[in-house]
Amino acid sequence: MCGIVGMISTHSVTRSTVERLATLEYRGYDSYGVAVPADETFAVTKSVGSVSRALAVGAFDQVPDATLALAHTRWATTGAVTDDNSHPHLSFDGRVAIVHNGVITNHAQIRRELEADGITFASDTDSEIAAHLIACQLRDGHDVPTAIGLATNALEGEYALAVLTLDDPHAVYGAKHKSPLVLCHDGQQGVLASDQMALGEIDADLLFLDDGDIVRLTVDTAQVVTAGPDGTPIPVERSYTRLDERTQTVEKGDYPHWMIKEIHETPAAARTAATMRDEQFTGVLDPHADRSVTLVGSGSAYYVSHLGQYFLAQLAGVRAIALPSDEAEPLALLKPGDSLIAVSQSGETFDTLEICRAAVATGAVVTSISNTPNSTQERLSSHVIRQGSGPEICVLSTKSIISQIVLLARLALETGRANGHLDQQRYRDHRGSLDRLPETLRAHIGTAAGAIQELATKYSHVSDWFFLGRGALFPAACESALKFKEVSYRHAEGAAAGFFKHGTISLIDADFYTVALLPERSSDPDRHAATMAAVSEIGARGGPVIGIGPTDIHPDERRAFTEYLPLPYHGDDPADIVLQLVTGQLLAYYCALDLGREIDQPRSLAKSVTVR
Ligand code: GLU
Repeated sequence: MCGIVGMISTHSVTRSTVERLATLEYRGYDSYGVAVPADETFAVTKSVGSVSRALAVGAFDQVPDATLALAHTRWATTGAVTDDNSHPHLSFDGRVAIVHNGVITNHAQIRRELEADGITFASDTDSEIAAHLIACQLRDGHDVPTAIGLATNALEGEYALAVLTLDDPHAVYGAKHKSPLVLCHDGQQGVLASDQMALGEIDADLLFLDDGDIVRLTVDTAQVVTAGPDGTPIPVERSYTRLDERTQTVEKGDYPHWMIKEIHETPAAARTAATMRDEQFTGVLDPHADRSVTLVGSGSAYYVSHLGQYFLAQLAGVRAIALPSDEAEPLALLKPGDSLIAVSQSGETFDTLEICRAAVATGAVVTSISNTPNSTQERLSSHVIRQGSGPEICVLSTKSIISQIVLLARLALETGRANGHLDQQRYRDHRGSLDRLPETLRAHIGTAAGAIQELATKYSHVSDWFFLGRGALFPAACESALKFKEVSYRHAEGAAAGFFKHGTISLIDADFYTVALLPERSSDPDRHAATMAAVSEIGARGGPVIGIGPTDIHPDERRAFTEYLPLPYHGDDPADIVLQLVTGQLLAYYCALDLGREIDQPRSLAKSVTVR
């Protein structure tokens, strides 16, 4: 979602604020803006487009130097993508500037009231009301924390706000409810941001704000209050977090896109997950208690959870349910002691945090799998499994989901060993397979990338695709279809090979292509045969099928495919699924490359979806 940066220092922060903002561009990038105090109001530079491109062409060179500044990249929720709707927004009297992340659900009502009071709006956003509400309270004589408290008390929905006001010209204010906000100061400068990534090189402890917090950040300190019902500030103590793992800054190097760089980093991500200590996984699920286990995630993380459901069933004999986070609330039926496993790269996914909060409230045990140390998801959880995959910049998740899959496989293996579902030999075979996976993956990417690119280029004109799989290859097919459509803008659907004949097959004709994900025949003959049956039924109706599967496919079976890509299978589900998914990532990448798409920042997508 949007990126927020607020900065204050003894020297000019204008340039640094914008540069920090550019590091957050992966969160939302339809427009950008910056505000600094100037001439008894604020100088605002804002526009539709990319902040890093604007920075490169000198769009901020005329922004006045200032010792405090606000900046924002937007991911529009309310109001079209226009210059006027870009943040920052100013109050009617020009004395307050705000940037906002989130969605204010009662904005229409408040807007009507403010318009009835004669206030004219400059944008269609939900956010602008916050600037006017704060200015109204200041005009009525309240001090700044009280004015922000009264204004935020009136808001419904979610917000992270950063605020500047001429009424307190030596401070940056922040306020939050459900959207993330973090700050640090080193005695000479203070930075407030929606993401640790923007805190960059500053070597200081971090303060993660809690819901309801209002912070006043000055050069050398941060004071946190919450607002009483009448807006009165109530001081609160918040503790700082010493980061054992600082978010590293990363370079794209010689790679043309982050996506392909991060695909090349999947072996390292798999290795980190495969070599994590067993103890990380042993306490997560009680191997003997018959508790319900729910896995949740959004987007790719949901398909990862769905894979986790198969792993837990097959490797640990544990019946789990995987739910998309946004639909989890009515179905999870969590009770005290039940387990919720939350999967999110950023650890800030709004829908996933909502079900985590509900789980904590009912006394369920929450486990976090995320790639961002100290994320809100981690702070809500009793068990924390850190991916350690390194920053992932491309909006599409590649190395991160590979890490999550290996971690869920490890969780299933440790649980299966502890409850006796797996004997020592099977446990060792699966572990051995995961240990060998990084090398197999590295070799596969090296040898197969050329063939995958050829295939992608040959078929990039095809506008409709099914991705088909059975068993754990079903969620894998859904994930490959998601990746493919996200970046190529081609229509692609994941489908279960067995379900296909019950309706979906009516769409098949010579123009509707299918990618079939095949398991190895010897390790799973029934699943192989069932997938081949679907392939044959599609072929009988004139549908072209691209097969991705084992090298030792029988020549009679090979004839059913228009094209066939062999994979160096291990004969072991979690490892083979990773090989399938990375192949799907390469297919999506090269297809998008051929079509000239915006690979690292596809239209309408954001990396970390922190709004409802
Ligand atoms: N709801 C606000 C808007 O549409 C903020 C969106 C965001 O988080 O980027 O402008």
